[in-house]
Amino acid sequence: MPMDLADARALHDTVPVIDLHADTPKLMEWLGYDLAQDHERALPRPMGIAGHVDLPRLRAGGVAAQVFSMWTFPYPQRGCAASIHRQLDAVHAAVRAHPEKLALGLDDDDVRAAQQSGRIAALSGIEGGQALEGDIDQVATFAARGVRYIGLLHFSANQLGAPAFGLGANHGRGLTDFGKEVVTEMNRLGVIVDLAHISRAGFFDAIERTRAPVMVSHTGVLGVHRSWRNIDDEQLRAVADTGGCVGAIFARRFVGRGGADAVAAHIQHIIKVAGEDVPALGSDFDGAVVPAPGLDDVADLPRLTAALARRGMPERTLRKVLGENALRVLREVPLQVTPPGAPTPAASTGNGPERA
Ligand SMILES: [Zn+2]
Repeated sequence: MPMDLADARALHDTVPVIDLHADTPKLMEWLGYDLAQDHERALPRPMGIAGHVDLPRLRAGGVAAQVFSMWTFPYPQRGCAASIHRQLDAVHAAVRAHPEKLALGLDDDDVRAAQQSGRIAALSGIEGGQALEGDIDQVATFAARGVRYIGLLHFSANQLGAPAFGLGANHGRGLTDFGKEVVTEMNRLGVIVDLAHISRAGFFDAIERTRAPVMVSHTGVLGVHRSWRNIDDEQLRAVADTGGCVGAIFARRFVGRGGADAVAAHIQHIIKVAGEDVPALGSDFDGAVVPAPGLDDVADLPRLTAALARRGMPERTLRKVLGENALRVLREVPLQVTPPGAPTPAASTGNGPERA
């Protein structure tokens, strides 16, 4: 059955759609970017490398949950933890300011509850293990603030290992002893290991070390488009073997030619190689990226759903891609600490109880 845009958008209302990666908190930390405001006019879509995500457009796109990724500059690696905390503060402040629109979330139950109460669930992740500043106890500190994943590497070598690209990039360099300890500590605390940006050797060191499903929160695949940023078929199968998921990136330079249909091609390749339980969404919106044409901001997400349907994807698989795969990983790697005040219970009213 052909699916037009209206059909795709309607499907979103019946699926807990979740995007695993948007870098919006840095805009909030720096610019006081207001999540509640519709930024369409302030930052015209075609020229925007940021400003892709806000609450009105999340709603327009039929997104139930957004994982807000906190990142720090690759170099110099100073004050990283403090910057992450400021970004967490900014997201939590937005939840307090708009409790009727936004709710902190940790797991699949929170996402479904937020959707049922007409709110968007805000989850948190960290991009780059330099946020730990070499201190294993920082994993627990961030877990206690509700951080659901940590990307071990970003654009520079850090205490954990080497990136796929950037300062100190080296695909042959694996995890350091500290990096391996961090993986184990993340497993213990229920913080998901995110393998976006990491060197190939580091990727497989983490796979060997982990006892929990991992994710690659935002990536393209080499089977469709050659880029330093994309992962190969062996890596896809390795993620599948852990029970994990892979968020398809929307950034034009990693997707290759084409718009929503090109992103759909990456998702189809993930399914072909690793099975339909692996693909998820990892837009990388607001990550200084130019999105694939037609996926200009989060409101355009139904275009991807329609593109997948045009490729013959059945609704059962669409539901997995849009949300169920990522929610399964959140459920199977439960956070082992209870952050104060988070998640906001679906029934709560008034100002959020977040105290941290
Ligand atoms: Zn990234």
